Amino acid sequence: MEKTALIYEGKAKKVWSTPDETLCIVDYKDDATAFNGLKKGTIKGKGAINNRVSNFMMRLLAEQGVPTHFVEELSDRETLVKKVEIVPLEVIIRNISAGSFAKNYGVKEGIVFEEPTIEFSYKNDDLGDPLINSYHAIALGLATKEEIEQIKAMAFKTNDVMKAFFKGLGIDLVDFKLEFGKTADGSIVLADEISPDTCRFWDSETHEKLDKDRFRRDLGNVEGAYEEMLRRIMGE
Ligand code: ADP
Ligand code: UDP
Repeated sequence: MEKTALIYEGKAKKVWSTPDETLCIVDYKDDATAFNGLKKGTIKGKGAINNRVSNFMMRLLAEQGVPTHFVEELSDRETLVKKVEIVPLEVIIRNISAGSFAKNYGVKEGIVFEEPTIEFSYKNDDLGDPLINSYHAIALGLATKEEIEQIKAMAFKTNDVMKAFFKGLGIDLVDFKLEFGKTADGSIVLADEISPDTCRFWDSETHEKLDKDRFRRDLGNVEGAYEEMLRRIMGE
């Protein structure tokens, strides 16, 4: 399947149309941004790593009964996916306090929760992706009540699968962001990506951060952390 036209260029990926209007090609870049685009940089090799990591996770989730947009890995950086209408919500699951949760609620990072939490942000760059609750999302017509229920169930199931998988690799899955989309037939699938850009991964023993926080917080060895995650996931 070949690329026909560039539909969208985002911060981390390009999206291309294909001759099949139900499919598109995502093309992963090495560009990195943080704090709503205020911090910009490049993480060498990130695009290829995120492509492989995300496709691995999407395959694993599909096997475990979570429908996804994944169709076929085309190259190092390119993947064929089902073209979806993205539900404009960032769905965030947390197992351990970190990032904006720790900041907003004035607690330290590293508190292990009894039960995972879920929250939504309205995916809208102009507004700075504000936190939103499910009633607001329904009122704004971003999703129906049924779709929200389905998204919640799929997000928690994704957490169960990923948490157990990463535990086996000696990694604590701290938190992550998911996006969902609607296919041509109206069904909801997991879309976008699952990678060290969109998850927090801490080494279970050393608590070393192996994700984009190394870039956000200038912790050094950013490329090394992404490579380490790829190595552990692929068992290389
Ligand atoms: P951003 O838009 O936040 O800068 P990216 O650079 O990752 O993010 O751009 C990828 C865009 O493609 C995102 O807006 C994402 O919602 C969208 N997207 C992800 N998966 C699909 C898909 N299967 N079909 C259509 N759009 C998708
Ligand atoms: N996240 C993301 N994209 C965003 C916002 C958050 O992928 O636009 C991920 C982030 O990598 C982390 C989780 O969602 O794994 C929770 O992020 P948080 O709300 O703590 O925000 P941050 O600390 O990034 O401001």
